[in-house]
Amino acid sequence: MNDCIFCKIIAGEIPSKKLYEDDEILAFWDIAPQAPIHFLVIPKKHIPSPVDVTEEDERIMGKVIRIAADLAKEQNIADDYRLIFNNGAKSGQEVFHIHMHILGGKGKPWPI
Ligand code: 5GP
Ligand code: ZN
Repeated sequence: MNDCIFCKIIAGEIPSKKLYEDDEILAFWDIAPQAPIHFLVIPKKHIPSPVDVTEEDERIMGKVIRIAADLAKEQNIADDYRLIFNNGAKSGQEVFHIHMHILGGKGKPWPI
């Protein structure tokens, strides 16, 4: 996708601080953290939004969650994080390459 900022991060055209990378997944720190620990896990495949996930994407999206859990352990927040997908502009989705937010290390519950 030519105009996708996260595809450009995957391609190395935009720099990012990476936590994890393999042939199908990338995890990197959010540029504007909303919690003491805030990183994103994305599939390298350009899926725009959660609503666009197809049956063929089920395995990779499960892997996104598993990698996030492994990274949360590494960051010592194994019992203190939330996983969030925004879906659609009205929800606050700004980047239309599917991404899971890992927000953690707050030390107390969130409103939801
Ligand atoms: P959304 O609002 O689409 O769910 O979340 C997009 C997230 O991507 C935001 O938290 C925003 O701070 C982050 N973001 C946007 N552009 C960049 C970038 O160029 N680099 C990094 N590391 N994060 C970005
Ligand atoms: Zn993309």
